[in-house]
Amino acid sequence: MEYQTILNEIQDEVLVLESKGAVADYIPQLGNVDATKFGVYLYGIESEGVSLGNAFEKFSIQSISKVYSLVLAMKVLDKDIWSRVGVEPSGDPFNSLTLLEYENGIPRNPFINSGAIVVADILMSYYQNPKEALLNFVRKISGNDAIDYNEKVAFSEKAHGYRNASLANLIKSFGNIHNDVDAILDFYFYQCSLEMSCQDLAKSFMIFANKGMLLDSDEVLIEPQQAKRINAIMQTCGFYDESGEFSFRVGLPGKSGVGGGIVAVHPGYYSVAVWSPKLNKKGNSYLGIEALERLTTKTGFSIF
Ligand code: GLN
Repeated sequence: MEYQTILNEIQDEVLVLESKGAVADYIPQLGNVDATKFGVYLYGIESEGVSLGNAFEKFSIQSISKVYSLVLAMKVLDKDIWSRVGVEPSGDPFNSLTLLEYENGIPRNPFINSGAIVVADILMSYYQNPKEALLNFVRKISGNDAIDYNEKVAFSEKAHGYRNASLANLIKSFGNIHNDVDAILDFYFYQCSLEMSCQDLAKSFMIFANKGMLLDSDEVLIEPQQAKRINAIMQTCGFYDESGEFSFRVGLPGKSGVGGGIVAVHPGYYSVAVWSPKLNKKGNSYLGIEALERLTTKTGFSIF
């Protein structure tokens, strides 16, 4: 069956479900989003992209940005990362402080807030202008120069970022942050405020479906081994304390954000991005997971 036919079926089934979630409003700017938005974009390695609904509308990618910052850090400083951040699922919420206290300020993985803050610190030590470096990298792998940060969202998060500030300060007290805490937080809030569409997200994640290569140019962006490793971390840690459940229901590596986006990858086959702003209690898109579970069930294409 064609991907488009399957996506249309999924839309019919998912949009009649009652979305039990709620839009994230702990970052006030995110609370203003229209909760009924729903978009999907799928790129196949050997097929044209297919779309549904609001697939071309930009939204706040939030924690999905943690994948981009990690990839950039792995490109420039791979060997320096893994003594400062682990690769184990945390089993805790994305903004939890708990394990840091027992584990000497070494975050469990790069896809929870503490881990991404350490990755931001690593990038900050390497680049004079890390915001510009990250933006250029994301534009390049998405093939879209119009992608940008949303300063209103970044400021809104900064104004309420007490929890992230505690994480950064706690990590700094263990010596695992080398730069100024306020500067790191500023960079972290900016990276979370990146706005992209499902199409942009799906296109950029094709590097993980395509052994590290850009789709259109065959340029090797990261080594195949690095793409393999990022897929592995997405599989085990991409959904915080719901990573096991996502694996169980969907069966793909992926990453979510509190803006309601999820991107998932089937290495060797496709990448797919979904956007629906209402989140479940773990901070993952409620209808996004429903849609992706149907996608892998109907196509029979998951990694398992
Ligand atoms: N910017 C958000 C935060 O730090 C990102 C969280 C997320 O998307 N899970 O709280």
